[in-house]
Amino acid sequence: MKLTFWGAAGAVTGSMHLVETAGKRLLLDCGLNQGRRKDADQKNRNLPYPGASIDAVILSHAHIDHSGNLPTLVRHGFTGPIFSTPATIDLCNWMLRDTAHIQEKDAEFLNKRLEKRKSQGLENGAVEPLYRMEDAERTLPLFRPVDYYRPHDLAPALRYQCYDAGHILGSSSIRLEDSSGGRTVRLTFSGDVGRPHLPIIRDPDRPEPAEYLILESTYGGRLHKDATHVINKLADVVNRTARRGGRIIVPAFAVGRTQQLVLLLHQLANEKRIPSIPIFVDSPLAVNVTDVHRSHPECFDEETREYLLHGQDPFGFGRLQYIREAEESKKLNDLHGPFVVISASGMCEQGRILHHLWNHIEDPRNTVLITGFQAQDTLGRKLVEKWPEVRIFGEPKRVRAEISSLDELSAHADQNELLQWIEPLVPTLRQVFLVHGEPQQSATLAKRLHSDLGLTVTVPAPGESFNIG
Ligand SMILES: [Zn+2]
Repeated sequence: MKLTFWGAAGAVTGSMHLVETAGKRLLLDCGLNQGRRKDADQKNRNLPYPGASIDAVILSHAHIDHSGNLPTLVRHGFTGPIFSTPATIDLCNWMLRDTAHIQEKDAEFLNKRLEKRKSQGLENGAVEPLYRMEDAERTLPLFRPVDYYRPHDLAPALRYQCYDAGHILGSSSIRLEDSSGGRTVRLTFSGDVGRPHLPIIRDPDRPEPAEYLILESTYGGRLHKDATHVINKLADVVNRTARRGGRIIVPAFAVGRTQQLVLLLHQLANEKRIPSIPIFVDSPLAVNVTDVHRSHPECFDEETREYLLHGQDPFGFGRLQYIREAEESKKLNDLHGPFVVISASGMCEQGRILHHLWNHIEDPRNTVLITGFQAQDTLGRKLVEKWPEVRIFGEPKRVRAEISSLDELSAHADQNELLQWIEPLVPTLRQVFLVHGEPQQSATLAKRLHSDLGLTVTVPAPGESFNIG
């Protein structure tokens, strides 16, 4: 079996690993690179192989940095199946179309600017979107549902099985079993590993034995705070800001984070621990994705099932309004008094959150509540790093609002949780490949895996190949 690490190698985004065995060429994930625009765009556009040379894709979960470049693969000639859990497919249905829409809008915006410069004789050539809506729509029919735990044959001596990764709705870890070379070689791809006690979804499954492991390392060098106290911290932020008469602006990933926040706010409102201020989810994608959550209760944990058993909608309550239309979103600026608005994108790179930040970031009464991982070079990262001034829509803005973080809601296991997750695999593991982490995070985790568990660990470079088994 040959492995080549084409994406998320020494970086967090662009997850894409090529597996060649049993006469097949399989991709594990096909994600979008995010971060510094020019670099990311180059990587996204230029696949290192023809799309038609790939037989199938197995997708770990719907996050865009894992799924978002599938339409480019299709544009480059891929026509094979994309295997994933049913919930992941329903999420991708919205997310890939949303991403296509963003690509088209971005190109339109850049072209308008180019037009201006062209008329001044400064530039020529138009920007083509990475992919268009029709590419996303050609991708969606290629998805094939494969339930958790159900073994699926990819070739006569090659099968895979997936387990709950406890990261977002439908997220999975993937275990390949390859007997094409005579004896059986088992390779597990962790996908993104979640954490115990996250709202809504189940805890990560215990992995089955394998000889080789591709492991994410987003928080390989860090420790999170205990997720059980997150609700108190959320209550504090809401109360503190409301007392100042400010607004709470929450950039949140449309998938997972938004629904978790809604569930926690629902709980706080039920218990009357926050004042009765309006709460808005302002993102058409989040609205659609919340509907997908409603239709997949099979992925819920006990607590969320309880809500359903009592006839309650975990994702809806009196004070909460979902906003689809842009006009409605604009009206929020005219509202008086405190409110909470949850909007995408989670790393503040695009979408309606930029308008809310633009309008609110210079007022010290307000709070920007960061709720997830912020990749290098994103606006969200600059806010976390407390830059005194940032650019929004090309304009400088003083950061006067309070910047607060709820790291507890991270959907990624931290260092100790990764060590716990890997533990059942230790007796059989021959080699671990660390991906999906900034170099320092991967290096720190590699050291601990080696020193504490005696494992052989490699942090592959982009494009590096390994023969295993
Ligand atoms: Zn993810």
